Amino acid sequence: GHLSPREEAMVTRRQRLLGPAYRLFYETPVHLVRGQGVWLYDPEGNAYLDTYNNVASVGHCHPRVVAAMADQAARLASHTRYLHDGVLDYAERLLAHFPPELGHVMFTCTGSEANDLALRLARAATGGTGIIVTENAYHGVTASVAEFSPSLGPAVAGGDHIRIIPAPDARQGDPAATFTANVEAAIADMTAHGIRPAVLIVDTIFSSDGVFADPAGFLAPAAAAIRRAGGLFIADEVQPGFGRTGAAMWGFQRHGVIPDMVSLGKPMGNGYPVAGLVLRPDVVAEFGAKARYFNTFGGNAVAAATANAVLGVIEDEGLMQNAARTGRLFHDGLEGLAACHDALGDIRSAGLFLGLDIVTGGQPDRDRAARLVNRLREERILISATGPKGHVLKIRPPLVFSAENVDFFLDRLDRILRAGV
Ligand code: PMP
Repeated sequence: GHLSPREEAMVTRRQRLLGPAYRLFYETPVHLVRGQGVWLYDPEGNAYLDTYNNVASVGHCHPRVVAAMADQAARLASHTRYLHDGVLDYAERLLAHFPPELGHVMFTCTGSEANDLALRLARAATGGTGIIVTENAYHGVTASVAEFSPSLGPAVAGGDHIRIIPAPDARQGDPAATFTANVEAAIADMTAHGIRPAVLIVDTIFSSDGVFADPAGFLAPAAAAIRRAGGLFIADEVQPGFGRTGAAMWGFQRHGVIPDMVSLGKPMGNGYPVAGLVLRPDVVAEFGAKARYFNTFGGNAVAAATANAVLGVIEDEGLMQNAARTGRLFHDGLEGLAACHDALGDIRSAGLFLGLDIVTGGQPDRDRAARLVNRLREERILISATGPKGHVLKIRPPLVFSAENVDFFLDRLDRILRAGV
């Protein structure tokens, strides 16, 4: 495909107005004007199957969410320094999905801010500064969070107080034992350098590390290790949270561990900027006695009403159950295709969060993955690749994805692979 003159002009205008730090997806960028359910539309009315956007988790422009948002926006858009039931109703509904130990929720606008707040609270609660993170993790954009987001590269990430460890890959030994040993080694190295550990933070499905879901339970001993050293365990649920893994609302639950703090974002408002941090009350006790936390837009009445509607849809439409059922179909279908196409390697998944290795001769092939992503885009299927070697197709569709949508994807993927990529 190639860009029309209209879209060429848009690309130029973007560069002029937004500057050089922005990146578009695909060799031929996609111009979108509308979304509905799992479908996105360009100005000509062509439909694209969204298999990547975990923000629009309950489906693009879900009418119940849009109505709740519009209704509240027309009534009152207040913040958290006034009394308002909306934020309390949502907090109650959200916390009911957590173990009782996690008794508070604090609201932000982005996942980055949630992780930034988690770090501030952890430092106040532990007196430590050290951070342990996995090698291709992404946790956000603020100055302090970018430092523990190694996927941004060594020019941005790292520092004396940060230790970067390999992600728990079950193909390289027992992930529970290896990951715990790596956490313990990082703690020992910090201690040797006079740094007290504050946190171990993990995305509980290791999205940008390449999707490592199994075996469920492998995180528990690593969480115990950071706690023995006086640090806290933070589960970043920005990607796996809100039912996506099919097994539970939160990725940490698959691992039988109760984090000290849990950061939430992306799907929380289905596109409206809502994020937050769920935590054990004692973690914020000292901080709260000394300092106040006010986030102008975090927990505002429109955010609360929108997020409340999103959670209502997840509950009422059984989307976690659909993630489990449709995710299993998807996984099995990919296994079937992998038996016929040597470009497809290992498949790892939990619910509607799947990682598919693209290989040549069994070895990771970044360029082949990129070609496949662009070929799928030409077939109007939106997807992307991830992992330190860029060869993992990350499949992460809205949770309303159907068996028919899976068949459509598999059929196009099969056709592209038959033609050679
Ligand atoms: N944590 C994870 C695991 C993420 O994937 C992201 C966003 N890609 C963030 C945190 C940051 O969220 P936001 O972009 O809302 O700041």
